[in-house]
Amino acid sequence: MDYSYISHLYCPKCLQTYEKDAIHHLCDCGAPLLVEYNLDRLAKEWRPADLERRKPDLWRYHELLPVQSEEHVTTMGEGMTPLLSMPTLGEDMELPNLLMKDEGIIPTGAFKARGAAVGVSKAKELGVEALAMPTNGNAGAAWALYAARAHISSTIVMPVDAPSITRNECALSGANLFLVNGLISDAGKMVAEAVKKQGLYDVSTLKEPYRIEGKKTMGLEIAEQLNWKLPDVILYPTGGGVGLIGIYKALQELQALGWLEGQKMPRLVAVQAEGCAPIVEAWKQGKTESVFWENSQTQAFGINVPKAIGDFLILHALYETDGCAIAVEEDEILKELKQVAKLEGSFVCPEGAAAFLAARRLREQNWIKQEESVVVLNTGAGIKYPDTAEVDVPVLEPGESLPLASSFVK
Ligand SMILES: *Cc1c(COP(=O)(O)O)cnc(C)c1O
Ligand SMILES: [Zn+2]
Repeated sequence: MDYSYISHLYCPKCLQTYEKDAIHHLCDCGAPLLVEYNLDRLAKEWRPADLERRKPDLWRYHELLPVQSEEHVTTMGEGMTPLLSMPTLGEDMELPNLLMKDEGIIPTGAFKARGAAVGVSKAKELGVEALAMPTNGNAGAAWALYAARAHISSTIVMPVDAPSITRNECALSGANLFLVNGLISDAGKMVAEAVKKQGLYDVSTLKEPYRIEGKKTMGLEIAEQLNWKLPDVILYPTGGGVGLIGIYKALQELQALGWLEGQKMPRLVAVQAEGCAPIVEAWKQGKTESVFWENSQTQAFGINVPKAIGDFLILHALYETDGCAIAVEEDEILKELKQVAKLEGSFVCPEGAAAFLAARRLREQNWIKQEESVVVLNTGAGIKYPDTAEVDVPVLEPGESLPLASSFVK
């Protein structure tokens, strides 16, 4: 058996194909490229039981990943994050079958580690020595750290108001880090120019075809963790949408392998914030592409993406699965975050809180039925955003006696 069953790259827009052993970015037509595998051959040679003795990380699916030689794998043990039941929060939302896929406990504290692990490993295999990317924070941190481990140099540009911890992660890992007084779209233009002038390997969202392959492992894991029985609904906080496109691609590949026989695809939900909802707007109008969202703003920084290059792929996945896109109210995100912490003891990131809030709203609208099984992606750790919530706690002098605990109950 081969380590990877990669066959070639293809353009989902114009269907042009590209060979797998050279460096490619976008298709000549400007669309992102996707990886195709020899699924017919793999279906004959690979069984779910083969996974049983493998390590609990995302490389357990190496046949469906693009890295061809194991020696190029750069890993920190990422993947196989918990799929937890959320009974108390579920009761509060009237969703007794509510589950959380918790990406908060993955190296670098955000699911971006998946894309970085696979993307950096493949870059290593392709002989890349220097990469560059714009970021809202978490992706830059993950890529800078994985690049450091792979001895690849990195150039990262992020908005000045990106979460400060991600700034530290990049700087301490030795990346060439620059802050820009603007948005990720501004950072993107600056990186594009540097890529051209300095010959760097461009790893901007979907401008290299392998990040999505790493992110797709969330879909593979959800299916495996549910014993190859798909949930009814999956909610995903959507910025560039790579995670959502990846989950959809993963489930389609599992269908093609015959591991999900006769099952309906889960309805995929793209969750955005009111202050940045280009996909929601496009979905409402039945469009196949989105329009740049002016002056976008949200505390859920990972989903502050005014125009996603893969928007047509996100929308395609929503239409094909009878899913939807929903924008949640900015002021309610923090309330939902507190609710998740209080009822389930989980300190989720604001993006994850937005996704829980979307589940609540869709249940209220009866778009999700009470008995349906629902998976919410918490895409990162709350502890990466120390400034999201302000708390008011009493400060005592040494020796002072504690007020009755009951007086704290809120
Ligand atoms: C990047 C990010 C997202 C959005 O992911 P996409 O795949 O780009 O849509 C969501 N949550 C967090 C915490 C992120 O860092
Ligand atoms: Zn094309």
